[in-house]
Amino acid sequence: MRPLATQAPAVEPTGHDHEDLVVQTGRRTGATMAVAIHSTRLGPALGGVRLWRYLRDEDGVADALRLARGMTFKAAAAGLDLGGGKGVICAPSTKPATGDERRAIFLDFGDLVDSLGGRYITAEDVGTCPEDMVVIAERTSHVTGMPEGLGGAGDPSPFTALGVQAAMRATVKWKFGSPDLSGRSVVIAGLGHVGANLARRLADAGAEIAVTDIDPRKREFADSLGAAWLEPGDALEAECDIVSPCAVGGAISSSNIDRLRCRAICGAANNQLADDSLAETLASRGILCAPDFIANAGGLINVYREVNSFSSARAAELALGIETTMGEVLARADAAATTPLHAARELARERLDPQG
Ligand code: NAD
Repeated sequence: MRPLATQAPAVEPTGHDHEDLVVQTGRRTGATMAVAIHSTRLGPALGGVRLWRYLRDEDGVADALRLARGMTFKAAAAGLDLGGGKGVICAPSTKPATGDERRAIFLDFGDLVDSLGGRYITAEDVGTCPEDMVVIAERTSHVTGMPEGLGGAGDPSPFTALGVQAAMRATVKWKFGSPDLSGRSVVIAGLGHVGANLARRLADAGAEIAVTDIDPRKREFADSLGAAWLEPGDALEAECDIVSPCAVGGAISSSNIDRLRCRAICGAANNQLADDSLAETLASRGILCAPDFIANAGGLINVYREVNSFSSARAAELALGIETTMGEVLARADAAATTPLHAARELARERLDPQG
């Protein structure tokens, strides 16, 4: 089990245009848990549940609100009939929960999900896995990301990595004139479920990769890929073609933005920018920032197949389609002389409010 970091992700809380926010104390565990439903306009709000050690419970609630909003845009831009929501469980201890304690946490969360009557559907996110979804399923049917052996879509991470790689091709095409990733230098920050899969894919595609993680045990994996290892504090500032944030949110902030030496940013993490205004700073520095909620939609596409019954091959096809969507977003941003983030939100808004 991975150790839980204790710091709160450095993201700013969003404005509150959400439909619902429920914060509860788990009956069995006393853990604070929250579900934020940003929108059900296009369908039930599907978004994973994060188990994370926050400095304060309020940070966890703020995280749920911001992540839920991102899910609305992600589903809309990906063309899915889903709304946006997110679950957060504030881990009661720095020690990773295991055994009966872990089971109790997810039974509590299952009760919370069930109380929302299907307006929110949960899945995996940072700190949770398909086995946790099986426990949640004891208390509610509104859960996806179940193990494949139980008829579920399984771990969404490989599909997320597939989609991020597709997004990266569109990004380098726009930046350097060719979608070919071979020879491109990429720094991957975070070698978890998605980052490790992405690293393997990029190594296979001939990219020159350098990686980092706060967990030094990941170094062995880096060696097995022949990837250079960077220290977590320096990695994002390394000179490279692409920085790929694949850990938690807020990787790019006002404290490091001036020191970035990459030409583009494209990764899996949600809310990579600690605040939206940084998109303009990046654009003014000539750093092309591929919007995260476009790049990382592959996992959502895959769990959606449990709601809408389509094959894993179709999910992969849709995840690969992220290359086209990202290309469209970057072209729109260029044509309108705006940031890719703004263009991506516009794309999502057109679907959310076609009369708009
Ligand atoms: P994970 O928990 O498996 O991996 C996260 C990794 O990041 C861990 O190895 C952790 O040690 C490392 N890490 C944490 N802080 C770090 C730091 N400051 N510097 C370097 N490494 C650090 O999570 P995951 O499922 O791989 O997801 C990664 C990111 O992608 C998250 O932001 C998640 O919300 C987002 N995302 C994941 C999916 C998915 O399918 N899993 C889908 C969409 C978005």
